[in-house]
Amino acid sequence: MSARTGSLHERHRAVLPRWLTLYYERPLELTHGAGRHVWDADGNRYLDFFGGILTTMTAHALPEVAKAVGEQAQRLVHSSTLYLSRPMVELAERIADLSGIEDARVFFTTSGTEANDAALLLASAYRGGANQVLAMRNSYHGRSFSTVGITGNAAWSPTTLSPLQTLYVHGGVRTRGPYAALPDEEFIAAAVADLEDMLAHTRPAGVAALIAEPVQGVGGFTSGPDGLFAAFREVLAREGIVWISDEVQTGWGRTGDHFWGWQAHAAAGPPDLLTFAKGIGNGMSIGGVVGRADIMDALDANSISTFGGSPVTMAAGLANLGYLLEHDLQSNARRVGAELRERLVAGAEDLALVREVRGRGLMIAVEVVRPGTGEPDPAVAALVLERAREAGLLIGKGGGPGGSVLRIAPPLSLTGEEAREGAELLVAALAGVDAELA
Ligand code: PLP
Repeated sequence: MSARTGSLHERHRAVLPRWLTLYYERPLELTHGAGRHVWDADGNRYLDFFGGILTTMTAHALPEVAKAVGEQAQRLVHSSTLYLSRPMVELAERIADLSGIEDARVFFTTSGTEANDAALLLASAYRGGANQVLAMRNSYHGRSFSTVGITGNAAWSPTTLSPLQTLYVHGGVRTRGPYAALPDEEFIAAAVADLEDMLAHTRPAGVAALIAEPVQGVGGFTSGPDGLFAAFREVLAREGIVWISDEVQTGWGRTGDHFWGWQAHAAAGPPDLLTFAKGIGNGMSIGGVVGRADIMDALDANSISTFGGSPVTMAAGLANLGYLLEHDLQSNARRVGAELRERLVAGAEDLALVREVRGRGLMIAVEVVRPGTGEPDPAVAALVLERAREAGLLIGKGGGPGGSVLRIAPPLSLTGEEAREGAELLVAALAGVDAELA
């Protein structure tokens, strides 16, 4: 047995797998949080512009959520789906009503991966065992065997051996790929023609679903034009193929203009299945699928979920969602997000390092390149992350090919003052790296 000695970082390295991504050369040990701030084990305070990974939806250590969790934990921590559970039924009712899907059913899981896995299983069962899936290039859908198989991002997809056969579709990225130079309507027409062509070369009866993130998260907060999925929907509906909207990052008002990402494609109506996770539990592990009753009921076997829908996480979800709606944090995300984006655009104007500032609501990306070459470079993004951290600001990174995108996704209660402070810190970090690399 190896000695359990050394720094926490060394012990982490010795006992956890090496592919478990850690940020920073000196990784952070976070000890507590409040509002939009977190503290590390050395007592340093950080403004949190990444919210875990978009998991802290409302605020860190929100008293309303802490109270609900504490009270539930003192009554009953676990019961399993074999018994009736009031918090599970109540949260399911709220999510069904919010989903926009008529007469919806909800199934709770404990992560986004498992939610997508369940959605794929349901779609396949509904489609008579079909095992092909249409997924977008540059997508990310999880880390299980089936979800890495449909993830269109090699950096996060370690195997091609998946139980599913994936057909990758164009259109998730407005600024890259064969249609990038086209105006929106022509872009959509080209992507639809590609989808039709792909279906003409396979047997549509073998295709269970199209799964897509309305705004790609790990792929670098990027999307196709509004209306793309409404156009895709027409083709899918003709063949009876299920549309799964992966709202793990885009749900709950994060994008400001809409409560769900699919609403930017509203002409199509709601998706057949919608998967959610991350923000709903404010850090507690809740994921799930909400969808059409005929698809949700398509499994012809018994099932349980030992931890999905457990009372403590459901209590957290109910309190968190209640706070979000009561304080209209979607509107806050729209207002404060727009201000933050404008400040970043203005601050980045003269920096060779910044290729683009984009985003919606509090889902904002700054795409960086190496000054001189103008090429994406993950090392440049990593350097900005380090400099921002030194200044007391936590942000995320990501991006598809090139992996050179900074991701900003604070808790949705971010104040105008905090947005100004964060923008100043980030622009200073960008300017510092720009000068360093010039
Ligand atoms: N889907 C999307 C869009 C995600 O961004 C993620 C995680 O980042 C997942 C699914 C997987 O969620 P989890 O990490 O909770 O399994």
